[in-house]
Amino acid sequence: MLNIIKKFFIILLVLFCTFTIGFYVLAYNNHLELIYPKNKAIIKADSTFFVGNTDPKATLTINNKPVKVYSNGSFVRVFDLKKGKNIIVLKSTLKDDIKIHKIELTVLNNSNKKKLNFSKFTPLDMSLVVTEEETALRTTPYGDRLTPTKKGVIFKTSGISNQHFKIELTPNRHGYINKNAAKLSVENKLENQILKTITFNETSKEIRVEIPFLQPAIVEINANSNILSVRADKTKMEFEKYTVKSPYIKNFNFREDTFTIELEGNHLNGYDYYYEKNNFVLRIKKPFKRGLQGKVIVIDPGHGGKEFGSIGPTGIAEKEINLKISKYLKELLVAQGAKVIMTRTEDQFVKLYDRIEIARKANADILVSIHNNALPDGQNPYIIHGTSTYYYQPQAFKLAKCIQNNLLKSTGFKDNGIRHGNFAITRTSMPVSVLVEIGFMINPFEYEKLLIPINQKSYAEGIKNGIEEYFKL
Ligand SMILES: [Zn+2]
Repeated sequence: MLNIIKKFFIILLVLFCTFTIGFYVLAYNNHLELIYPKNKAIIKADSTFFVGNTDPKATLTINNKPVKVYSNGSFVRVFDLKKGKNIIVLKSTLKDDIKIHKIELTVLNNSNKKKLNFSKFTPLDMSLVVTEEETALRTTPYGDRLTPTKKGVIFKTSGISNQHFKIELTPNRHGYINKNAAKLSVENKLENQILKTITFNETSKEIRVEIPFLQPAIVEINANSNILSVRADKTKMEFEKYTVKSPYIKNFNFREDTFTIELEGNHLNGYDYYYEKNNFVLRIKKPFKRGLQGKVIVIDPGHGGKEFGSIGPTGIAEKEINLKISKYLKELLVAQGAKVIMTRTEDQFVKLYDRIEIARKANADILVSIHNNALPDGQNPYIIHGTSTYYYQPQAFKLAKCIQNNLLKSTGFKDNGIRHGNFAITRTSMPVSVLVEIGFMINPFEYEKLLIPINQKSYAEGIKNGIEEYFKL
């Protein structure tokens, strides 16, 4: 009897040990994680990159080709793909333990790219009203943006296609607006209007120009260094009595459908325009006093919440790194006397246009968006990587340049350039805004550096130095 009990306990003990050791081995050997691409992904290029991590001591192959594993376990490997289905086998070997991960990728023909639909325009002579705020007016149906149009603006179309309205801006220049952003205006017919009154006012921080329109018309603003030229559609400027009192305005003139303001100083510090009913309002920021003291700076840590941004080989999301660096940047700027507002202070989702709204409401001097970069399929993160700063408005170029030059000194990464970037954040003309891509999440060398707190502080310091230099100009 005792023997049977003994045997039973021995069996139990053996079972227990097998189970725990087995469990332990399983847990321990849980190496090999593929972050990108996902199984069954459709790739619209003839190569992709495999981003993931495994045990730093493991040897890794992708379809039997050796892959470098970095000291933190990261791997990033560019891999050519063939058209159609590709079976990819990742094999991580750690002593006797072999882990295999198999995925299927489908490469679609590059020519499957969405064809631009330049369908025919049928002549149509009607008045329309813009129904969506900040609708883009473009040079061709899918071309560059000319200007954002405001909700409630009336325009006359000269043609219609199944996607767009065509607008005759000047006898030899056209603009295009998405059909879903405007509707036929029954009660309003756009008439040519003569503008007789313009007023200039000043607040402590701004110059405010107002023109009563008979109907809100499309306005195109061109800003270059210290000159702003404003063209209004279907109008004639015949201003009668006006006085330009501001010492910041060097020159003012008007002709036909355009007026021009030349400012003192050598650059613009932000401008914005809108309609208050039929009243056109143009706000121009006055030149700033030198130094960081009292400057209102909005820092925008890119992404957040459900929006992860790019994800690095060991699974850390861009949103986390962006926030950490942004917090360090805030501390440094506050220490120099600046007033800093963050578009988010935790891991939360904030809509893109809400971020810009925060900056506008704060009457900020500058908006700096903090990001880290990635690439689309077909490109190589060992060739394209490094630090870059984006601007869109010409007025933001100087800020981009100051930040880029100073940030490069602290990252030591490759100079990926001061770039013209058409993003919602950089398109805004008030405040002066830039977007910084500190490094590449999918370049293993840069990614590893981006994770280290002491480096994050140093990158924040680089950006701070750039901002400081800008406010000394
Ligand atoms: Zn980003």
